[in-house]
Amino acid sequence: MSAHFDAIVIGGGLVGLSIAYGLARAGLRVAVCDEGDQSFRASRGNFGLVWVQGKGVDAPAYARLTAQSARAWPAFAERLRGDSGIDPALAQPGGLSLCVDAGELAARAAAMARLAAHAPGFGYEVLDADGVRRRLPDAAPDLAGGIYSPLDGHVNPLRTLHALLAAFQARGGRYLPRRRVEEIRADGGGFTLDTGAGALRCGRLVLAAGLGNARLAPRVGLRAPVAPVRGQLMITERLPPFLPCPTPSVRQTDDGTVQIGDSQEPVGFDDGTRPDVLAGMARRAIRLFPRLRAARVVRAWGALRIMTPDGLPIYQESRRHPGAFVATCHSGVTLAAAHGEIVAPWIAGDAAPPFVEDFHAERFAP
Ligand SMILES: Cc1cc2nc3c(=O)[nH]c(=O)nc-3n(C[C@H](O)[C@H](O)[C@H](O)COP(=O)(O)OP(=O)(O)OC[C@H]3O[C@@H](n4cnc5c(N)ncnc54)[C@H](O)[C@@H]3O)c2cc1C
Repeated sequence: MSAHFDAIVIGGGLVGLSIAYGLARAGLRVAVCDEGDQSFRASRGNFGLVWVQGKGVDAPAYARLTAQSARAWPAFAERLRGDSGIDPALAQPGGLSLCVDAGELAARAAAMARLAAHAPGFGYEVLDADGVRRRLPDAAPDLAGGIYSPLDGHVNPLRTLHALLAAFQARGGRYLPRRRVEEIRADGGGFTLDTGAGALRCGRLVLAAGLGNARLAPRVGLRAPVAPVRGQLMITERLPPFLPCPTPSVRQTDDGTVQIGDSQEPVGFDDGTRPDVLAGMARRAIRLFPRLRAARVVRAWGALRIMTPDGLPIYQESRRHPGAFVATCHSGVTLAAAHGEIVAPWIAGDAAPPFVEDFHAERFAP
């Protein structure tokens, strides 16, 4: 006989675990199946920002969802800490996008004005070089300026993942590692999943397999046209605190290391690193913060973002097989609170939140 759960989440990354944690909190018997280290896992290689500015400039529903998640993060982090005993190290001191020249600053300021027009309560400031140095005294003195947004922040992303897993298990969830889901069969009464280690059954099914969703979604009448976009990152030795708020490409972590990187490379399923790209990012980081010239880089890596054609999330329940859901996005750190607190209750049976309609995959041509 196959094990039976109220819900199974395929994928044990940030998206899957955030939703699974929310489902377990709603009282469902939940299992998470995760393929493991041989698959691509964005959740173990990301930059850790809870970032609002610039998100959804021309997509109001995405701007609202992102801001809603950032506002929900403090309570979510508190809940995670309480259930797991692990601190995700959330800090939301605001974030600063730094601009080297006036053209860059003008373009960013124009984008922020468009964003603020459709994101209620979203505040931001356009700073000149002095304004930047008042917030970041170690920034280069000759920058054109920057954009400060008070909702932005960051977490320790690996600790967040660990906290999500521990909190999910503390709420009775079953984590099934090394369980690649090969096939899914819908039979009206639920779903049967074939895994390398036997079959599993559930009433509700959540596809949160990152890049793996592209293959799985059609099995249950859904679509997930996601493609990889590589990002390369590097991290320095620990330094005394000098960066009180994060920037999109340089941030100081809670343990003092400095994380650098923001490359966006459409190179297929290649998560390697390239010295020329790393060198370019290091040069830009030193341009923004000259003191980094003396810092030693201790590690560099590549990881694959999970991108839809328009860069916006997909949330959808299958019309052909109700009870099957797909969830994917390229900002799973930022949206973790929304996934746990809003998306999970919908999947558990609450009314769909209004943004779901905006994020159906039918917006993409077949
Ligand atoms: C370089 C980089 C920087 C980033 N920076 C940020 C940032 O600063 N802020 C932010 O909000 N977001 C950031 N992101 C994005 C964020 O990391 C992702 O949105 C998030 O990790 C996606 O989580 P996921 O659970 O959807 O996917 P993944 O983490 O990829 O997890 C998917 C899981 O599904 C499993 N799986 C796949 N197929 C199967 C199968 N058939 N059966 C069972 N399991 C399966 C895999 O093993 C994997 O563990 C960044 C990403 C990258 C790559």
